[in-house]
Amino acid sequence: MLELINELWFMKRDIVSDEFDRALNRLAKEVPMKIHAYPSGEQCWTWHIPEKWTCHEAYLETLKGKRLIDYADHPLHVVSYSLPFEGVVTRDELLKHLHVHPQLPEAIPFVFKYYERDWGLCAPQTLKDQLKDEAYRVVIRATFEPGNLKVGEVVIPGENQKTFMLVAHLCHPAMVNDDLTGVVVGCEVARRLLSGPKPYYTYRLLILPETIGSIAYLSHHENLIPDMVGGLFLEMLGNDSPHVLQASFQPNSQVDYCLKTAFRGLETQGYIGAYRTIVPNDERQFNSPGVRVPMLSISRVEKPSYPPVPYREYHSSLDTPAIVTQERLEASSRVVLGLLHAWERNQYVVNKFKGEIFCSGYGIWIDYRLNPQGSLRLFEIMERCDGEHTVADIANELDISFQAVWEVISQFLEKDLVWLSRTSHPTTPVRD
Ligand SMILES: [Zn+2]
Repeated sequence: MLELINELWFMKRDIVSDEFDRALNRLAKEVPMKIHAYPSGEQCWTWHIPEKWTCHEAYLETLKGKRLIDYADHPLHVVSYSLPFEGVVTRDELLKHLHVHPQLPEAIPFVFKYYERDWGLCAPQTLKDQLKDEAYRVVIRATFEPGNLKVGEVVIPGENQKTFMLVAHLCHPAMVNDDLTGVVVGCEVARRLLSGPKPYYTYRLLILPETIGSIAYLSHHENLIPDMVGGLFLEMLGNDSPHVLQASFQPNSQVDYCLKTAFRGLETQGYIGAYRTIVPNDERQFNSPGVRVPMLSISRVEKPSYPPVPYREYHSSLDTPAIVTQERLEASSRVVLGLLHAWERNQYVVNKFKGEIFCSGYGIWIDYRLNPQGSLRLFEIMERCDGEHTVADIANELDISFQAVWEVISQFLEKDLVWLSRTSHPTTPVRD
């Protein structure tokens, strides 16, 4: 994963651009991928696909020809989708178009103006502070032309066409944690799912430019939306913080219950936050009206804030491979696979027994004097095995991990006391 990051990170992966396409084509060599293309100008719901943007050359110079900023040195020196501009400007005029990072004086900020366009350059605050001349020369040779927005799709076919969506975005130029880390973890998870036994659910991994990529894909696949039963956005998975799970817009959905309770069993240091409280991303498009797929997101956001500052180097030239490690990417892959593993196993637990189970007779009795908590838990789980509770429902009601409930349910399964059903199967007698 880190090798792939080292290969792709510095590319100018603007939302519709040649280098975005090159990066996606490179990823298609890692996992079997279908690449969808949506032409510039096309209407997608209330949006339209932007043109392809290419910056050929850009710099800021003193009038004596001393170069202060050069796009050739770093892709973040030019606002993504900047209008072209050439000319001599006053210092005041330049400062209106020169962006700096609000917190990091030594970093170049990531600034984009995809729709409300203007020309713009980006520089460290330290450089801006040195601009004392009356006038400067600006050159931004950028072109807008018809192109194709690309979305990569990896399908892991399941026994059922009900689909779980995995999504990550590839579009930030010369940055790593946001969100090349989500992309490489997504590819790794897809590869492992493809090499394992056929899952029950179908999985689709989408690698796309943020927001507009999700809109383009969803508006072209409205027929698939009813089968999308849940999803997970993968974001910022390489920095040095524990995992954070952000709930979907439907916090009482089965996917939310399952992933939240399984997360507790997988990441003891992490925390869980409500929808839109951790970091906003493509999960917004999936959760939105008319789509309403309960999509959670997993990240390593340091602390929630709005506007978001998910980690120190966020949206800056300091978001480099130096802040991510292979170990953390592997740990994130394991957590994501663990969540999906729980999702696969989450079914209704149907009792074959009536009354309380004769625990000592079945060899599953827990001595309440030695282990009062364990004994209580056993009974609390047992009394919810009624064909109307899934494993996740039980874990959620009892506020314990999915894995803790599963441990007890697997004992019941072993003793042939329960069976699992994909649909509810109430065993309570019907009373008028
Ligand atoms: Zn971002």
